[in-house]
Amino acid sequence: MTFKDLNLAESLLQTLTAIGYSTPTEIQQKAIPHLIQGKDIFGCAQTGTGKTAAFALPILQHLSGKRHQGIRALVLAPTRELASQISENIAAYSKHTHITHTTIFGGVSQKNQEQALRKQVDILVATPGRLLDLLQQGVISLKTVEYFVLDEADRMLDMGFIRDIKKIIATLPVKKQTMFFSATVSPEIKELSNKILVNPIYVSVTPVSSAAPLIEQSLFYVDQQDKRSLLLHLLKQEGIENALVFTRTKRGANKVAKDLNKVGIKTEAIHGNKSQSARERALHDFKNKSLRVLVATDLASRGIDIDKLSHVINYEIPDVPETYVHRIGRTGRAGATGIAYSFCANDEKSNIKSIQKLIQKSIPVVSNHPYANAKLIIQNS
Ligand code: AMP
Repeated sequence: MTFKDLNLAESLLQTLTAIGYSTPTEIQQKAIPHLIQGKDIFGCAQTGTGKTAAFALPILQHLSGKRHQGIRALVLAPTRELASQISENIAAYSKHTHITHTTIFGGVSQKNQEQALRKQVDILVATPGRLLDLLQQGVISLKTVEYFVLDEADRMLDMGFIRDIKKIIATLPVKKQTMFFSATVSPEIKELSNKILVNPIYVSVTPVSSAAPLIEQSLFYVDQQDKRSLLLHLLKQEGIENALVFTRTKRGANKVAKDLNKVGIKTEAIHGNKSQSARERALHDFKNKSLRVLVATDLASRGIDIDKLSHVINYEIPDVPETYVHRIGRTGRAGATGIAYSFCANDEKSNIKSIQKLIQKSIPVVSNHPYANAKLIIQNS
């Protein structure tokens, strides 16, 4: 199947060819025809499946007709990184159109965002907190919105945005096309989607429980105090081109980055305590390969879109098994292969068990490394 088969306008087809998209991904194939027809959608898809283009292309196609005043499409995303990334994609896809967009999120001064909003904005990409602030201050109106995207709805709920989201939705016109995306489907997600979608089409691709098959996963049983040495060992030995390393805490992320920098491995940490500009700089350097290792906490990492990320390393094993799937999904994106290593200490064994139950397979154990904890390996084999 090609993009042409999806009834996309010629100008969009040309743009897609120019940016190197030749074949639509599964979610694009399944969603775009319905979205072009104006249907609401519930998309069960994780980041990395191409879901941004799946909703952005139909919106651009709808908007490319006559001009209107006011914000016509609203995309809500849980984190500033994801919002920025969606904006980058929209910028690329809308390059040869007159459609304008802007992004607003918290943690930075409101002034520039207010200024941007004074101009005609067709598509607004926003995080819920700052958007609600601006709505309550009367700086912004959403009365003209015709297309509404709620991206990573599960993450929004995890982050406690449900009340903000409901307040924002209450300010939108009743008549609109709604696109709802979530990587996981919990009862809360079902309830929220039932409230806001009208006769939606359901589209599901690579459910979160089936980690991308192209990702090669390995488990390293190791004492907590040896994790640092194991990480150094792997970064020295293995053909690790670039690695996104996950820690559970902000402090942990800083510590790992400091340790690696000490031995000359250029590393940055990103987490909620870092300024927006520091995070953006780190991401930029990581994407353009001038930084080999990026250490992140889960919140900071969600939605990070890095082309050709060779390795994800779980320095600590997450308590929530779905988080593991999201983490390793940062590599192996859009059909590429990827490698995920997980360091498991004694007190993380039960987390690994829950993960293996979720992904319905056992992660192969690496026992021939210098920091292997034989007792843990035997106990769990
Ligand atoms: P997303 O799930 O929207 O974050 O997209 C994941 C990555 O896949 C991004 O880097 C996109 O630029 C890329 N991508 C999306 N659609 C396609 C496509 N049809 N062909 C190649 N790459 C794509």
